[in-house]
Amino acid sequence: MTQLWPTLIILGPAGLLIGIGLSIAARRWQDHSDTMIERINKLLPQTQCEQCGHPGCRPYARAIARGEADINRCPPGGDTTIRALADLLGKQVKALDSSCGEHKAPLLAVIDEQRCIGCTLCIQACPVDAIAGAAKWMHTVIAAECTGCELCLPPCPVDCIDLVSLADQPQRRIPAHVQIPDLAA
Ligand code: SF4
Ligand code: SF4
Ligand code: SF4
Repeated sequence: MTQLWPTLIILGPAGLLIGIGLSIAARRWQDHSDTMIERINKLLPQTQCEQCGHPGCRPYARAIARGEADINRCPPGGDTTIRALADLLGKQVKALDSSCGEHKAPLLAVIDEQRCIGCTLCIQACPVDAIAGAAKWMHTVIAAECTGCELCLPPCPVDCIDLVSLADQPQRRIPAHVQIPDLAA
């Protein structure tokens, strides 16, 4: 046992130093990974429509950063977003994955308040809190917050929500967090 002491005295601090080194490296890798996720997320339209197969833009950004998802899965962003992601990540530009949906002009949800029965299901489905209302009272869409993600349509039991093109609504202010893709590009 006495012969082991010199070995332990040398290996103890060495192990500690290796542990500290690994911890610093892990922290740096995590910081780098978080920064990349944020950079990717900033290029996404923030529509939160889930058409990419992820529960929102940031989870999709995280999947791209981890190499778990391709860059061509965001229909609202279309070619503009694909080009921006390819540029950031040094990847080849490719066509939008049509299995995710098609690129459309920006939309806005509008509730027919006469037909609304106040069930609140649309409020629960909206990812950006763009619907105001209370149980058994009519609901309305807060146009400045709506991203046109379409997620409120399927739950409505009386089919009283329509999507209108923002291009047909010049009086509507486009939400600041919605990036409008360049349809001509
Ligand atoms: S498809 Fe695009 S806009 Fe919709 S949640 Fe995914 S990244 Fe966001
Ligand atoms: S109101 Fe409907 S379309 Fe607009 S953001 Fe909410 S769920 Fe999406
Ligand atoms: S889901 Fe339809 S009926 Fe229910 S509160 Fe929303 S708009 Fe009204």
